[in-house]
Amino acid sequence: QEFKPIQVRIIIKEVIKLLRASIPANIEIRQDLASQCPRVLADPVQIHQIVMNLCTNAYQAIGKKGGIITISLKEVAVGSNDLQPDLDITPGTYVLLEVSDTGHGMDAATLEKIFDPYFTTKKRGEGTGLGLSVVHGIVKKHRGYITTHSEPDHGSAFHVFLPGMAPEG
Ligand code: ADP
Ligand code: MG
Repeated sequence: QEFKPIQVRIIIKEVIKLLRASIPANIEIRQDLASQCPRVLADPVQIHQIVMNLCTNAYQAIGKKGGIITISLKEVAVGSNDLQPDLDITPGTYVLLEVSDTGHGMDAATLEKIFDPYFTTKKRGEGTGLGLSVVHGIVKKHRGYITTHSEPDHGSAFHVFLPGMAPEG
């Protein structure tokens, strides 16, 4: 793995291009990507994998009936007030990647297990249960953290926070 300063926006654009070429017309992809976002010190291949895994899950949760995947990127300041005790977070400037969908959502029991390796609610052949555990591992390696919000029958949102680099002086 090779860590270098990258713009997450460029990676998101690549993933969207790939998705647009392969998903059905009844799934809309929306994007809201801040143009001035700090770079992150990251392995671009692994960041690509995060975005792709989250979008694949979003796409599968939407299913045949169609819906919307929204990908957004912005800068956020995380202060000590925001810190969740169970997460090991350093206050500072983060880049927030959000992938949300209008799919089937998750109940509380599912939410508890989604980052466990091999946990899946999908049929054989549709999921290995490794996607989110890989995402979680990558995010941790980059000193970031991830939060999940979901409502059964309405959809889900995954928030990935990655430490932003200080702007060059
Ligand atoms: P897989 O996609 O192979 O099942 P993942 O680790 O990617 O494995 O996801 C684990 C489980 O988390 C999924 O089987 C599903 O139950 C749930 N999940 C993940 N993302 C979403 C989503 N966007 N909407 C609803 N459920 C999701
Ligand atoms: Mg998956």
